[in-house]
Amino acid sequence: MSEALTNPTAGYYTQRDVFGTAGDFITSPEISQMFGEMIGIWVVAQWQTSMGKPKKLNLVELGPGRGTLMADLIRGTRVFREFSAALSINLVEVSPVLRSIQMKNLGVSVMDETHSTHQMGDQVKAHTAAGIPVTWHRSMDSIEYSDGPVLYLAHEFFDALPVNQFQLTPRGWCERLVDENYGNDVSSDKTNGPHFRMVLSPGPTPSVRTLLQWRLQSMTVQERSKLKAIEISPQAVALAETLAEKIGCHGGAALIIDYGKDGPYADSLMAIKNHERCDVFDTPGFADLSAWVDFEAIRLAVNKSSQGATTYGPISQAQFLHGLGIIERLKKLLENASVEQSSALIAGYHRLVSDECNVDGNDSNESHESHENNTSGGTGMGQSYKVMCIVPSGQPPPIPFQ
Ligand code: SAH
Repeated sequence: MSEALTNPTAGYYTQRDVFGTAGDFITSPEISQMFGEMIGIWVVAQWQTSMGKPKKLNLVELGPGRGTLMADLIRGTRVFREFSAALSINLVEVSPVLRSIQMKNLGVSVMDETHSTHQMGDQVKAHTAAGIPVTWHRSMDSIEYSDGPVLYLAHEFFDALPVNQFQLTPRGWCERLVDENYGNDVSSDKTNGPHFRMVLSPGPTPSVRTLLQWRLQSMTVQERSKLKAIEISPQAVALAETLAEKIGCHGGAALIIDYGKDGPYADSLMAIKNHERCDVFDTPGFADLSAWVDFEAIRLAVNKSSQGATTYGPISQAQFLHGLGIIERLKKLLENASVEQSSALIAGYHRLVSDECNVDGNDSNESHESHENNTSGGTGMGQSYKVMCIVPSGQPPPIPFQ
């Protein structure tokens, strides 16, 4: 999954702009400017109330896509001058193509390009037109934090992290592994290129003994007895631990938004190409691969790290956006909008908070909203997308997680 998505020369994300009508799917920041603006309000509220208006704030976005969320956040918060002056932005992006698009959308002038000693760790330092410093990184490891707390944003980032899949068999828990199919599969009519297929490990693998055992420990005997298969993302667990450690150490917060639920999935791995689902082994590197996010595993990882951080949520995206005042924002925008703009704003609002996804077939821009089997509480983006935050231990739940 990792190779198919982020291989430097053949990865899905590294080679193209994947978003919008011409791409494979659409995300919330691309649906409406109000999405980034609401995240901006949340960030300012954290800076103001929970952090006490520090003079420096490191804002880190993981997987910024086209940079639309960050551009809307910066524009929407510029009335808070002290906040804008405190901002120092770090963008973690593996794709050179998307990185260039982010630069354009943030209106930056590149100041300095340094090739750090990290493997493939080239950084680019720049400033936005308003003078906010922005640094691009290939991974979180190269971020150097200036003084002050750190605020992380991860919108549709965790779903792109690779998963391991496990299955209960008569011989105990086994791992589902990817095997190369050497062409002796008579049912396959494809003759060109490597074919892949899923196979079961003959017995417990190291991941069965470690990762799976760790995830099973948190379950009751009853929950475990019902389980036949489970998916776990070791990278998601490791990232949650890192975020907890950083927030425990520097102060700050993390906001994680993704499609998922407060519990594990059996098999949610999916591929999307040209707005349609396809087999995960169809044309690797040309289809988006993603898995639904197990927010319970993130909470367990944060608690496990015991580095002085705690989680709130997940709450639904509809609850989150309504709690932050998206309706008031919509009304304000409608005051000066043309008829065309008004209908786009209203349609965007409904799509972001809806319970049910558009089933009339007009929705050519496929998001991940309609994966019926994996949603909990509704198939629309308002319900299938969830929001969780990580904050320092002892901090009361931030708005709107109360
Ligand atoms: N947040 C954006 C994009 C989501 S798609 C939006 O909502 O529109 C996932 C993003 O994460 C893309 O920008 C992709 O290039 C990036 N990405 C995926 N895997 C990554 C990894 N391992 N390291 C850094 N960036 C990654």
